[in-house]
Amino acid sequence: MSSISLRNVTKRFDDVTAIDGVELDVENGEFVVLVGPSGCGKSTLLRTIAGLESATAGSVVLDDEDVTDLDPADRDVAMVFQNYALYPHMTARRNMTFGLGSSGSDLEGEELDARVREVAEMLGIADLLDRKPAELSGGEKQRVAMGRALLRDPEVFLLDEPLSNLDAKLRDQMRTELLDLHRELGVTTVYVTHDQTEAMTLGDRIAVLNDGRIQQIDDPQQVYDYPENRFVAEFIGSPRMNVFRASLSTAGGRSRLLVDDDEIDLPGDPEPPSPADSRPVDVGIRPEDLSLADDDPGADAPLEVTVTMHESLGDSLLVYGTTGSQQLRFLTDPRRSIEPDDRVSLTVDRERIHLYDPETGEALYHSDPAASEPETASSDPVRPQP
Ligand code: ATP
Repeated sequence: MSSISLRNVTKRFDDVTAIDGVELDVENGEFVVLVGPSGCGKSTLLRTIAGLESATAGSVVLDDEDVTDLDPADRDVAMVFQNYALYPHMTARRNMTFGLGSSGSDLEGEELDARVREVAEMLGIADLLDRKPAELSGGEKQRVAMGRALLRDPEVFLLDEPLSNLDAKLRDQMRTELLDLHRELGVTTVYVTHDQTEAMTLGDRIAVLNDGRIQQIDDPQQVYDYPENRFVAEFIGSPRMNVFRASLSTAGGRSRLLVDDDEIDLPGDPEPPSPADSRPVDVGIRPEDLSLADDDPGADAPLEVTVTMHESLGDSLLVYGTTGSQQLRFLTDPRRSIEPDDRVSLTVDRERIHLYDPETGEALYHSDPAASEPETASSDPVRPQP
């Protein structure tokens, strides 16, 4: 297995900067997911690691070798593409073995046959090897493409949205299989997706990309609990985090957020930034961290909202409302009766509040989610300075 290091990698296409000074270290055997919106540069970054694009600046290092100027075939990486890139006129077996000689593998004859069987059995396609791609389902084609990559016994696996052409059920199944495969083989893997469920469930770490830059890289729960900027806060998590404007003030040792006529007290640990005067902030609260006050009688319910609409998600009801000037979404029981124009009071989980600078979008403060879960307590909440 190899480690991967990207040093200040930039890739420009004429006047488009697809990748902008990316620094990334992937450890030996690690599974890193690159996630971000369409056009943010995920595929270009992956293709640059593979050598299918040459970096405009910076370097790509596999283990200790600088491979920036090496051809793809000399990099010992295997890539699986979104559309599988299978040859239609070849059988699954031939698709898997085609070009093996030219990639430096010395497998041939019976040894190659045995290896194909082994890989095909691991992927559950041993009975399909004589079929052509037109005779295979999407999931089966995807496995053949994976088989082709596995057969090369690469140091590094690069996967570009390999599940995006599959239906939801198959995607779930293949996701689990990919995890098992990674556990079994331990090949260093970089996986591109725009689907944040895939990112959250697959990655040892996830790197959130926007405009060709890494916004945050960390283990998935850390990214979810402590998004370092407003972009990450709104991109990771479904339904999306509420981000709304409020005024932050500190008086008498108490920090408060003013939202229209409502006031939310901030917990004192970690210490919220204390502005000399009140200052505008963008407040981030996930929909699951707002609840109807009726569900928790006696709790402080600092937000009054007017319901505008709702949609059932099956296991919960996503309700949209407004405080007057700010739009909010919250989750509740799907079987409760709630209608547009209803006035409702909301409680706020004060251990899960984030503040962002309205100008830069950078995090100013996260209240500490671990505070309400002592058994998994992290003693080190992120506490950026204002
Ligand atoms: P998606 O999720 O839609 O596949 P992505 O995050 O993988 O998007 P890229 O395909 O890496 O994004 O593209 C990043 C940017 O670079 C986009 O603005 C794209 O238009 C541009 N780009 C990519 N390839 C080329 C190319 N060969 N020539 C010119 N511009 C390109």
